[in-house]
Amino acid sequence: MQKIVKAPAKVNLTLDVIGKRDDGFHDVEMIMTTVDLADRIQLKTLKEDQIKIDVTQGFVPTNENNLAYKAAKLLKDKFSIDKGISIFIDKKIPVSAGLAGGSTDAAAVLRGLNDIWELQLSMEELAEIGLEIGSDVPFCVHGGTAIARGRGEKLEFIPAPPPCWVVLVKPPMGVSTKDIYERLNLKELKHPDTSGMVAAIQAQDFKGICIRLENVMETVTFELHPNVKKVKEKMMQYGGDGVVMSGSGPTVFALTQNESRAVRLYNSLKGFMEQVYVVRLLGKKHG
Ligand code: ATP
Repeated sequence: MQKIVKAPAKVNLTLDVIGKRDDGFHDVEMIMTTVDLADRIQLKTLKEDQIKIDVTQGFVPTNENNLAYKAAKLLKDKFSIDKGISIFIDKKIPVSAGLAGGSTDAAAVLRGLNDIWELQLSMEELAEIGLEIGSDVPFCVHGGTAIARGRGEKLEFIPAPPPCWVVLVKPPMGVSTKDIYERLNLKELKHPDTSGMVAAIQAQDFKGICIRLENVMETVTFELHPNVKKVKEKMMQYGGDGVVMSGSGPTVFALTQNESRAVRLYNSLKGFMEQVYVVRLLGKKHG
């Protein structure tokens, strides 16, 4: 049996860090939404009882450290599945980019194997299992647009933002999320207007969304990598209606509802950056 699952990236429309917890995680409050930049995962059952993994991109592990492998292993062990599975990831989402590439692969494997192995788990049950792999996995299981609190697993779903283009630039460096958290000065954060952003989304007020795009991690990533700040400035200069960094970076994205402006942004950025993408915002739950 064989199945192809799409694993879309997420971007953060807002990202706030509320505090550090005793268990080492941080409490966050962020609005996440899915975009149509997706890995394509092929799942194939194997006769031999093993998990095989292959990826089209060199910088991603092809062993038990791959989050997609971890997802398959977790399900296999929890439900005592004695059949094997081959996972082939056609990687389109930039790696270590702030787009939850690994988490969305893991989530897609959970959804795909739930069907292949006929486990009949609900999306909520899959999300709970996904949390054992990483904080962003529960959101990636569902997709859509949500306010995420706690470690990122407490999800409140809200409507999709109005249709728009998303122009993403991944500057040529990887950023470690752990590193950025360690450098954040929690006492000096300028907190995003999360409730204002939710109201703007509910009112389908595109301009209101653009002016409220904000991420507390920007200052830290910009300090470590001044080029990322320059990319943001260029994107604003080239006509992005709203521009912000996603996750801990270094990906910066711009929103616009104007197709020719999206193309102009893409062409201007392509002149000096290798990884530039123009995609549609998805914002709706999977399935
Ligand atoms: P986050 O925003 O959740 O921190 P990210 O988008 O910044 O994630 P990823 O692309 O998920 O970063 O990669 C982070 C690390 O995870 C990399 O070091 C990568 O080698 C590892 N990794 C494990 N599995 C995968 C996968 N399936 N796809 C991409 N990276 C993976």
